[in-house]
Amino acid sequence: MTEVVSENSEVTVLLVDDNPQNLKVLYETLKDKGYRLLIANEGEKALDLAHRHHPEVILLDIMMPEMDGYEVCERLKADPETADIAVVFLSALDDLQAKVKGFSLGGADYISKPFQSLEVIARVKTHARVIRLERELQARNRELQGDQTRILDSISEGIYGLDENGLIEFANPAAAAIAGRPVEDLIGKCFFDLHFATADECRDSLPVMATCNKGVPEHQRDIQMLRVDGSSFPAEYRATPKLDGDELHGAVVVFHDITAELESEKALEEARELVQEQRDQLAHTSRLTTMGEMAAGFAHEVNQPLTAISNYARVSKRMMAKDEPDLELLGETLDKIDAQSHRASEIIRRIRRFMKKPATGKEELSVPELLEDTRQFAEVDMRNNEGGIEVRVDDDLPGVLADPIQVQQVALNLIRNALEATRSAGSSQPVEVSARRCGDQCVRVEVRDHGVGVPEEAEDKLFHPFYTTKEDGMGIGLATCRSLMQAQGGDIGYQRPEGGGACFWFVLPIAGAEGAPCTPDEA
Ligand code: ADP
Repeated sequence: MTEVVSENSEVTVLLVDDNPQNLKVLYETLKDKGYRLLIANEGEKALDLAHRHHPEVILLDIMMPEMDGYEVCERLKADPETADIAVVFLSALDDLQAKVKGFSLGGADYISKPFQSLEVIARVKTHARVIRLERELQARNRELQGDQTRILDSISEGIYGLDENGLIEFANPAAAAIAGRPVEDLIGKCFFDLHFATADECRDSLPVMATCNKGVPEHQRDIQMLRVDGSSFPAEYRATPKLDGDELHGAVVVFHDITAELESEKALEEARELVQEQRDQLAHTSRLTTMGEMAAGFAHEVNQPLTAISNYARVSKRMMAKDEPDLELLGETLDKIDAQSHRASEIIRRIRRFMKKPATGKEELSVPELLEDTRQFAEVDMRNNEGGIEVRVDDDLPGVLADPIQVQQVALNLIRNALEATRSAGSSQPVEVSARRCGDQCVRVEVRDHGVGVPEEAEDKLFHPFYTTKEDGMGIGLATCRSLMQAQGGDIGYQRPEGGGACFWFVLPIAGAEGAPCTPDEA
C-alpha cells in the first residue's frame, strides 16, 4: 500500500463529468489512492484545469452540455501543452462507433458506464504510469538534446551532418564561422559546391565524397577548402559515414582551419633549423678549438715525414752523382720518399676532413674504422701526455647510422680528456677504448681511463656547458658531445668504473634498426 501511495503521490488526475453524483462516485473511488484529484463539471473548466495543473490522466465524460467530451479531448490534443495527457473517456455510450471516435481524437482508453471501481483504479494506475514514464523520457531527451547542443556549440571544430548527396542537414556555429555564413544559410546547401571549386568530372575525387556515397571513412590534412566569400583556407577533416545498420545515410564531417597550425609548424621548423645551424656552428668552433690546441703537435707530426723526405732526397742526389748509381737502392729510397709523403698528406687529409664545415651528414659507418682513425688522430695528444691508447672492438660489430665527423669529434674529445686525466694522476695505464653491440638497436662505445676520476658531486655537472675543473679549460667539450650525440639519435653518459678513473660512454643507433634507441639503463 505504501508503495502505491508513493508511486502515485505526484500524479494528478482530473475528473470531468457534468453529473455531480458521478463525480462524487469517481472521487470516492480514487480518493485514497494517493493521487492529487481535481474535478470539473464542464468542458471549459476542464480545459482550464488541464492547462494550469497539467494532470497525467483525465477521466472525461462524453455527454456534457455545451462542450462535450470529444471536443474537450480534441482541444487538449491540439495544444502541445496538454497533448500528452492520457484522456480516458467515460460514457454510457457503449457502442463501437463512439469508442472509435474517442480513440481517433487521441483518447487513450475508454471505460463504459456504469463502471466497476476496480477497473477505474486499474486503468488510471496504468495510464498514470505510462504518462509519467513518457514525461520522464521526454525530460531526459530534452536534457540530452540540450547537452548535445551545448557540446556542439562549444566545439571549436566545424561539424556538418550531410545526407548521401552531400546536402548539409546540420551545421554547428563553428562550421558557420569557418564557412563565413550563418548556420541557417548553410542548411540545405551542397557541401561540395560550397567548399570546393572543381569541374564536374573531378567531383568523385573530392574530399568526403567517398564517405557520403560509399561509406568510406576519411581523414586528410592540408586540404584547401573554400569559404563562402571565395577565399580559401587549409583544413584538416575527418569524415565518418552515417550508418543505420547497413544503410548509408550520408556523413558527419568534423573539420577545422589549420592556417595557424601550419604557421606555427613552419615557425617551429625554422627554429629547429636555426638551432641545428647553431649546433653545427658550435660543434665546428669546438673542432677548430681542438685543432688549435693540437696544432703544435700536428706541426711536429708533419715535420717528421718532411724531414725524412728531405734526407732521402739528399741521399738520392748523392747516389745519382756516382758514376754507376745503384738504381735498385735509388728506387728503394724513392719508395721511402713516397711513403713519407703519404704519411704527411694523410695527416693533413685527416685535419682537413675534421675541420670541414658543415659536417658531412649521416651515413652508415664502421665503428672500428672510425675508432682507429680517431686513435691515429689522437696520437699527437698521446705523445704530449706520454700516455697510450688501446682499442678493443667486438667482432661482427654492425654499422651505425651517424655523421662520421661528429662521432669522431665526440670520440676524440673523450680520448683527449682521458689522456689528460691519466697524465694528471701520474698513471701509465693506457686509455681503453672499446666498442660492443648493445641490444638490437645500438652500438656502445666506452672510453675508460685510470686517471684522476670524477668526484661524486661533479657527476651531474659534467655535461653542463662551461663546467670545467681545468685552469685553461672552457667546459664546452662534453656539452657539445651531448648535443652531437642527441643529434645522431644516440646518447652519452658517464659511469663510475670500479677501481678508480673515469668511464664515459656513448651509444649510436645501428643502421637499419627500427624502433627507439636503447635507454640509458640498457646502455
Ligand atoms: P674541459 O676539458 O674544457 O674542462 P669538458 O667539457 O671536456 O671541458 O670537460 C668538463 C670537465 O669534466 C673537465 O674539466 C673535467 O673536470 C671533467 N672530465 C672530463 N673528462 C674527464 C676524465 N676522463 N676524467 C676526469 N674528469 C673528466
